[in-house]
Amino acid sequence: MDSLHLPAFQYQRPGTLREALELLSISKGPAFPLAGGTDLLVQLRSRPFAPECLFVDLGNLTELRGVQLENNNLQIGALATHAQLAASPLIQAEAPLLAWACARVGTPQTRTRGTLGGNVVHASPAADTIPPLLVHEAILVICSPQAKRRSALDRFLLGPYRTTKRDDEVLVAFSLPRLTNQPPAGCYRYGYQRLIRRQAVGIARIIVAAALRLQGHTISEARLACGAVTPVACRLGGVEEWLRGKEAILPVFQEAGERASREAFARIGPRWSTPYKQPVLASLVRRALQQAGDS
Ligand SMILES: Cc1cc2nc3c(=O)[nH]c(=O)nc-3n(C[C@H](O)[C@H](O)[C@H](O)COP(=O)(O)OP(=O)(O)OC[C@H]3O[C@@H](n4cnc5c(N)ncnc54)[C@H](O)[C@@H]3O)c2cc1C
Repeated sequence: MDSLHLPAFQYQRPGTLREALELLSISKGPAFPLAGGTDLLVQLRSRPFAPECLFVDLGNLTELRGVQLENNNLQIGALATHAQLAASPLIQAEAPLLAWACARVGTPQTRTRGTLGGNVVHASPAADTIPPLLVHEAILVICSPQAKRRSALDRFLLGPYRTTKRDDEVLVAFSLPRLTNQPPAGCYRYGYQRLIRRQAVGIARIIVAAALRLQGHTISEARLACGAVTPVACRLGGVEEWLRGKEAILPVFQEAGERASREAFARIGPRWSTPYKQPVLASLVRRALQQAGDS
């Protein structure tokens, strides 16, 4: 293969989910669902694919595309693109962290092709949409030829580029329990911070997504997730617990930043990047909480 040509592979574009699942399960060689292709097709250059390898293009499966509110859950089809989600008034209103994250993925071309399902199944530690989805405690709806299962996102992610998805399964949708703003229980406010090496296209070095539920100035609930720090993006439960009942004021956010950084880095132990990343994570957490508190 020269640098201008892709290697040979098999390609099918089924019209229904049932056909797609059947193709994946009967394939003689390795088979992969193909969504926007912005990760999978790039891998064609870097990892060997045998010519009998089958790509099952999900592009015709319109039932995997929609975004709607159903029974107090936000339902997002796995094929929803970053561009669609960033521009969706429903996502902006119900899950602004996700809208902000999608608006920051790659380039306009990447956002137009790349899908939420592809971002999550690829499972990069630096995937932009995963911290917001963790804050929303997203449930994944996954189909195989035999069954449909539901999995919490944190259980779906096993490690860098590893998930519980089997080869014959297709991720169909995400279900996000609605975070409602009812006055007695308080209102949710959001903050999202992302560090990249330069202002143009770049993979995130640190991502922080925060949601605070405020009753007046008191934090009744905090949800905090970070990406690109630990091998798998995660919630920072210790800091969330510490924040509950505290005032939404700068010294509290500063202390939470320090605690978040200690909690995240305690999980991975010292690395060459720790002296740089540890204080930066503390600052980004403080900023995300401030952004949420001030909004
Ligand atoms: C120039 C460039 C910039 C980028 N910048 C960013 C960035 O800033 N932030 C970021 O997070 N990512 C970035 N990416 C990575 C990529 O665009 C995203 O991860 C994107 O969301 C992948 O979605 P896709 O639909 O293209 O997935 P695909 O490439 O089609 O698939 C990715 C993987 O998921 C599997 N898959 C896809 N959909 C399904 C499904 N419904 N069910 C089961 N398996 C499925 C595929 O088999 C494959 O293993 C960038 C990529 C490029 C090329």
